Amino acid sequence: MTTDQSYDAAIVGGGLAGLALSIQLARQGHRVILFEKEKFPFHKVCGEYISLESWDFLNDLGVDLHSMQVPIITRLQVSGTNGKLLQRHLPLGGFGISRYKLDGALAALSRAAGVALQESTKVNDVLFANDEFTIETAQQIFRAKIVCGTYGKRSNIDIKRKRPFSTASKNKLNNYIGVKYHISGDFPANTIALHNFKNGYCGLVKIEDNKYNLCYLTTARNLQNSHTDIKRMEQTILSVNPHLQKIFAESKTGFESPLTISQISFDRKSQVEDHMLMIGDAAGMITPLCGNGMSMALHGSKIAAGHIHMFLQGQTTREKMEKRYRFQWQRQFSRRLKTGRRIQRLFGSGWLTNLFITVMKSFPGLVDALIRKTHGKSF
Ligand SMILES: Cc1cc2nc3c(=O)[nH]c(=O)nc-3n(C[C@H](O)[C@H](O)[C@H](O)COP(=O)(O)OP(=O)(O)OC[C@H]3O[C@@H](n4cnc5c(N)ncnc54)[C@H](O)[C@@H]3O)c2cc1C
Repeated sequence: MTTDQSYDAAIVGGGLAGLALSIQLARQGHRVILFEKEKFPFHKVCGEYISLESWDFLNDLGVDLHSMQVPIITRLQVSGTNGKLLQRHLPLGGFGISRYKLDGALAALSRAAGVALQESTKVNDVLFANDEFTIETAQQIFRAKIVCGTYGKRSNIDIKRKRPFSTASKNKLNNYIGVKYHISGDFPANTIALHNFKNGYCGLVKIEDNKYNLCYLTTARNLQNSHTDIKRMEQTILSVNPHLQKIFAESKTGFESPLTISQISFDRKSQVEDHMLMIGDAAGMITPLCGNGMSMALHGSKIAAGHIHMFLQGQTTREKMEKRYRFQWQRQFSRRLKTGRRIQRLFGSGWLTNLFITVMKSFPGLVDALIRKTHGKSF
């Protein structure tokens, strides 16, 4: 193994947080390396609805959303497990775009900004000693002054470091699976739909090329109870909701089999781990029903970029940089995460979800208040 490569900043994970951070730091004149275990572009389990709060930031990075003609989403539909429907105009709204397209565009911008983009390269470990990091991959060892953990919900590094959420026993917030398809069919183009079923919910939103993204989150137990057969789970559990039954019956899927992920956790996480700044889902994951995790990952990268730039320019110490980053991250996102966890607990039990929707139909102002509490402003 060689150890000759040294960088200002090394970023582990090329999702939204990592790619956006790499572009900002490279444009500030820093030497940046980014490691991504997959090869761009690739599909990812995600609802693919982005809150409009990210619009300006993505445009500033160079993602030309206008010419991409992304579908603009202005309405929300939520159905109970019994099919009862709540419909609202969204206070801020959002747009639909596949992660294949968005992350692919950001990866191209990252390369163009001069980032050393290491694709198909998994980081095995990160060590901090003598005020410097070493980053280990299977082929090589790299050195850097700063390392950012942007490796998402759960990674080999979390397990190696025994981060508390990765060793916690199973509870109501940490044993979920995610399933996603791209489908075509006749659905409203300006609406994000959230259809509930026993122990889960399923989102449907329009993305590019006249396709829709269908993505659901449910407990691992639902799948076990369906003999680990996804189709069977969709027929016997999801399709009890008449809206989902219609969607599954009338749509055509673009994937041979769905994309899946498991062991999703919404437990609390730390924002600094052994001097590594954690950003995006690696710092804390908001429940998907809030539809805001991508904006938090992007916004988090902007907060981190400011503090890292000051440190690399010698305007602040490592200790102060870490403290200020943690403080600003928590001030910006802690309340959203807390509200998200509370709402997540309400969903799952059929009668509670149905009661929630009945109450919300009578007091629509409450829906707007909840949306505001789980979203931020343009950044
Ligand atoms: C079912 C579901 C639906 C969702 N729906 C929405 C939605 O509609 N709207 C929304 O805003 N948010 C949604 N989210 C949340 C959103 O997907 C995340 O918040 C967002 O992807 C976080 O971005 P990130 O950059 O932190 O992580 P990621 O996008 O997960 O990127 C992390 C990257 O790190 C790489 N990686 C991991 N380990 C290593 C390693 N050791 N070495 C190198 N690379 C590594 C991974 O391959 C990955 O590409 C949803 C999440 C789920 C689970």
